[in-house]
Amino acid sequence: MSGDSPSSKTQVATEACRASVPDDPIVGIDLGTTNSLVAFADAAGPRILSLGSDLESVEDEASSQNGNGLVPSVVRYRGDVVEAVGREAAAGLEDHATRTVYSVKRYMGRRFDDRREDAAASPYRVVEGARGLSGIEIDGRMRSPEEISADLLAHLRDRASEALGVPVRRAVVTVPAYFDDAQRQATRDAGRIAGIDVVRILNEPTAAALAYGIGGRGDAETIVVYDLGGGTFDVTVLEVMPADPSSPDGEAIFRVLATAGDTRLGGDDFDRVLLEDLHDAAMAESDPERRARRLAVLRAVGGRAKIALSDAAATRIRLDGGGVVPDLDRTLDRADFEVAARPLVDRTLDACERALKDAGLERAAIDRVVLVGGSTRMPMIREAVETWFDRPAYVALDPDRVIALGAAVQGSILAGTRRDALLLDVIPLSLGLETAGGAVAKLVVRNTMVPTRSVEMFSTSVDGQLNVGLHVVQGEREMVADCRSLARFELRGLPPMPAGIPQIEVAFNVDANGVLGVDAVERRSGRRARVQVVPSNGLTRDEVDRIEADSVTHARDDMMVHRVVDLAVNAALDVKWITEALDRVRADVDTEVVASVEAGLVELQALITQAREDPRSVDPDAFHAAKDRLDRASMPVHEASIARSLRNEASSGD
Ligand code: ADP
Ligand code: MG
Repeated sequence: MSGDSPSSKTQVATEACRASVPDDPIVGIDLGTTNSLVAFADAAGPRILSLGSDLESVEDEASSQNGNGLVPSVVRYRGDVVEAVGREAAAGLEDHATRTVYSVKRYMGRRFDDRREDAAASPYRVVEGARGLSGIEIDGRMRSPEEISADLLAHLRDRASEALGVPVRRAVVTVPAYFDDAQRQATRDAGRIAGIDVVRILNEPTAAALAYGIGGRGDAETIVVYDLGGGTFDVTVLEVMPADPSSPDGEAIFRVLATAGDTRLGGDDFDRVLLEDLHDAAMAESDPERRARRLAVLRAVGGRAKIALSDAAATRIRLDGGGVVPDLDRTLDRADFEVAARPLVDRTLDACERALKDAGLERAAIDRVVLVGGSTRMPMIREAVETWFDRPAYVALDPDRVIALGAAVQGSILAGTRRDALLLDVIPLSLGLETAGGAVAKLVVRNTMVPTRSVEMFSTSVDGQLNVGLHVVQGEREMVADCRSLARFELRGLPPMPAGIPQIEVAFNVDANGVLGVDAVERRSGRRARVQVVPSNGLTRDEVDRIEADSVTHARDDMMVHRVVDLAVNAALDVKWITEALDRVRADVDTEVVASVEAGLVELQALITQAREDPRSVDPDAFHAAKDRLDRASMPVHEASIARSLRNEASSGD
């Protein structure tokens, strides 16, 4: 294992291998309160469509957390026209606070009377519209929430069509599990206005489960989906009856046992808590235009700071208000934030308690907990939920993308293009860990039935390594460069120890849904780290076959390279130890011995260098023999070294 920055790798499974897009695809759309996304699933599984203006059609799953693909659910109007949608509209929110609509999902299919409080706090005008429903009035023009959602959907559809290269007409659209008939109908209507055939309205928690392959096989499960988004919190208890394997198009049955939550609790509240005093001051502003602007600025600044605190222990915010809003310069600590936000976290846990009570279940009866929503990226949320449920949660898929991914899976089921079930029952490709020199230690070999568990001990190859980089890979080849990279994480804060002394226990756990959890613990210090991934993502049966065939072709060559790489690691430790010992005892051994050891060191060092540069050019047998020769030649050095330590001990003793 190396602590250095990881070596470059070739991604084996790439877009080039993906199946072509059908004529009339069914995409999955997460029409979120804060952000919306489109995904598409084919034989390789679901992927988020990148909807940026740069229009790469496919986004690397592992890449940027908050990057492309997420379209802010924001629309700006001017008179009769849509002036901006998505990122552009969100960016202009501060300057066009009264003409920019966000969080319109709150008003879908709801009576104005039920939304008076939201309406009062809204920078854009929400009024009572037709039939007592909510309406949004901008520049004297009234629009229904459905129309505004339709403008969003049309934008998503157009971008998705560009990304896929075919016109998109059909979609699975997700809604919260608690949405009633009126709200579902409003969502359907929005699709209709946008010219989209909504082939199914899917519950968001069900989508999250589908994205993780839950319901694909195995036993019935009870799962909890904890979804903390931008403005809302939902917790759902779901019962899943897997699809009947004998009927290939059979769908799993997802039954909602209970829902609870809070339609006024989400990431926005955490932003607010972070800058509580400033928020209060802004609310006290009497001029509505200025109040809207100040709130919008705080929303943006607070949101950015909060996201920074998910990765860092502290962050500094500075703002030049230009006389329009007050200037700002302060440093925020995660620890303080966590204390201030604890009541919000507790409210979510209270809702979990209510949901379980309504479902008539104890915490122990829950098989899995799935985390959804961008706000679950806050470490305090994950810790609180895992502690409360007393089990690790599903976090492998990006929490703000998992619903769209699941909607796409449902789309592929409805389109009859669902992925190869063979991939789901066994580990399709071996799973392993990168070791020193870029070789792979396989912990789980391919075709192992799931669930499965495997544990191995590793150590370090560099003295005093404080952080150990762990790289989880997939594939049949012997070298990391020829495998598919699944995840990287770090075991941090080890006490300094010589190379080879830390005992790093690494456990690979693949559960019944094919989700891989990797846990690493350094035994002496107790330091831990973990990561979770879905290894079958992005894999098709064809690709698995190709990778297997490849490994057969390269088997002999690969074994040789693996041997050379391992030899280089061991030989490097030899060179280090022997050089140190020789420096200590040079005066105690014959000059011929010194000469032959030094010659051996030079020879071995040259082979190590060559092996690092091009392992294929080194003959492993010759390498081994050289290492052996040096080991033998240096025996007198070791003996002299031991003798010297014994003398030192004797002279320092009482
Ligand atoms: P919704 O379901 O409401 O559309 P999302 O699931 O996209 O919302 O979540 C949006 C929320 O997630 C926002 O409040 C945003 O600030 C928050 N968020 C996104 N990334 C992070 C992060 N890394 N740390 C904390 N909060 C985050
Ligand atoms: Mg959401």
